[in-house]
This record gives sequence, C-alpha cells and structure tokens, in this order.
Amino acid sequence: MKLLEDRIRNDSEVLPGNVLKINSFLNHQVDPELMMAVGTEFAHLFKDAGITKVLTCEASGIAPGVMTAYELHVPMVFARKKKPSTLNDEVYWADVYSYTKKTTNQICVEQKFLNPNDRLLIIDDFLANGEAVKGMINIAHQAYAEIAGVGVVVAKSFQGGSTWIKKHGYKLEALANIASLADNQVHFVGEN
Ligand code: 5GP
Repeated sequence: MKLLEDRIRNDSEVLPGNVLKINSFLNHQVDPELMMAVGTEFAHLFKDAGITKVLTCEASGIAPGVMTAYELHVPMVFARKKKPSTLNDEVYWADVYSYTKKTTNQICVEQKFLNPNDRLLIIDDFLANGEAVKGMINIAHQAYAEIAGVGVVVAKSFQGGSTWIKKHGYKLEALANIASLADNQVHFVGEN
C-alpha cells in the first residue's frame, strides 16, 4: 500500500534490535485518515471471505482493527493484556511472548464474544516472529471459531512470523512488507 509505505519512509525511525518506531501515526499518536485507508484496504482484500468478526490485540491493533471492522460492517473484539475486574471467569487465555518487551504476557478474550459460528479476521499492527498472531489463533481455536485470514499493517518479512503463518495455511495480507532494516534504513520487499 503506497500511502503507507510513503508514510513509513518519511515518518519512522529504526531502533536497535530491528524495531521500527512509527509512534507518530500508529503506535502512540494515530492518524485516523491513514487508519481508515488501512481499514478500507483490509476490507477490500477480505471482502469475499465471509468475515463475521475482527479479532485484534490491545493497544496498537485497535485502530486498524476497528477501521477494518467498520468497513466490513462487523464487530471488532480486542484481546486484553490484563484481565479487568469487570470480566468474569469465562475467558480464553493465551501466552504471548513480546518481541519488543522481551517478556511473556497473557492475553484474554471473554468467551461470550467468540463462538463456533465466527469466521475471524485477525488484525495486528506489526508482524515480527508471529507470537501475538499465534496467541490470537490459539484463542480462536479454543472458541472453535474459524480463521479466515490474518492482516497486518507492517510485516517484517525477515523475521519468522510471515513464514509461519503461510506454512500453517492461513491467508496473510501485509500492507507494508519490510525486507530489512539494515543500516538504519527501511528496505521494502521488491525494492531495489
Ligand atoms: P510478534 O508477536 O509477531 O513477534 O511481534 C508483534 C508484536 O510486537 C506487535 O503486536 C507489536 O506490538 C510488537 N512489535 C514487533 N516488532 C515491532 C516493531 O518493529 N515496531 C513496533 N512498534 N512494534 C513491534
């Protein structure tokens, strides 16, 4: 998606450890027009997939997730990283190792929001090693929901997540595919 790639070129920072900082339009401040364009693109890519619900993870999945759900006219559910006191015990849990924080956290979704009739579109901001997506797939399996596909705003294709998702037979759409962050530069897949 050219609009997104251009924004990444002009408005991002490469941090040590192959981390891309895009705090000015997605991970801290959010650009709603760009997020709407992201949602429109995901909705177009999955329009024939029979999606009943978007599943994402707080916090940074919410902006692209809700825009995608809006365009598909379905609800969005976001997995929570801490169980709030307002949630009862009926939740699905999964472990997720955080690439950026180097810690394992649990995510949870209240059981009543996922069911076996659901065809889920999993959305996230970044795909690195795939741990967050694997956690959401785990939760979908616990609910016996079908997974129609995975959409990520940015995939760092040089890390293992993209390969894992495709190898396990899930449709994957990434709106920006990064081949490398060598020399503190963003190199997109297919770029010279
Ligand atoms: P994974 O679980 O695929 O290893 O990593 C994905 C999660 O880690 C994303 O949800 C995102 O929050 C965070 N993440 C991974 N790589 C990056 C990165 O380069 N930049 C930012 N901002 N977040 C990242």
